[in-house]
Amino acid sequence: MSIKENINKLRFEIPEGVDLLAVSKTKPIEDLEEAYQAGIRDFGENKVQELLSKEEEFHKDVRWHLIGKLQTNKVKYLVDKVYLIHSLSSLKLLKEVERVFRNADKIANTLIQINIGREESKSGILEEELFDLINEVEKCNHVFVKGIMVIIPKGNDEDNRKYFRRTKKIFDDLKQKDYKNIKMEILSMGMTHDFKVAIEEGSTLVRVGQGVFGERDYNI
Ligand SMILES: *Cc1c(COP(=O)(O)O)cnc(C)c1O
Repeated sequence: MSIKENINKLRFEIPEGVDLLAVSKTKPIEDLEEAYQAGIRDFGENKVQELLSKEEEFHKDVRWHLIGKLQTNKVKYLVDKVYLIHSLSSLKLLKEVERVFRNADKIANTLIQINIGREESKSGILEEELFDLINEVEKCNHVFVKGIMVIIPKGNDEDNRKYFRRTKKIFDDLKQKDYKNIKMEILSMGMTHDFKVAIEEGSTLVRVGQGVFGERDYNI
């Protein structure tokens, strides 16, 4: 199927109220153009350098989402380029985002990435670290938290559902609270192979790469 056909199929499968983020990492700009022509305006990249070079040469009305691990020394490049950082994943990173965006007199929109499966190999904060991070967010003036992002461990539908449900519970609990600089609106969970279950469990934004652009040559 073509990229356009993939997108039309996804539009049919994804209900109203859930946003589709097209994850274009490793894909050439011609592929992004095909998605753009099919109406996609939200693109996700996992590397700062790749996001920047695509941002420079592509349509200016595109919203760029950073979904990969963000190193503190790269934060400065994202000012005025990134629409949403999905991977706010440590106190150290939070402080650097605040510092950089303060110097630029801008606001960074972010999601807190939670390592819901407690995997060594994945970034994201652990659930018990959440309140320390929130405490620090409340002290910020240039960071705004709009929700939560998770990458769940590889597993079957039943396991996936468990992780999604647990994340939704955290999301809902935070939504009830009145923290400064935090408003829970976006729950970024679900990828090509598990987005349907994620949506059933309350996702508001699915990050779909291979389901839009076809298989990647290498998996990163
Ligand atoms: C690559 C990636 C995706 C998309 O994965 P697919 O399996 O291609 O849909 C989603 N989220 C993150 C954080 C990714 O790195």
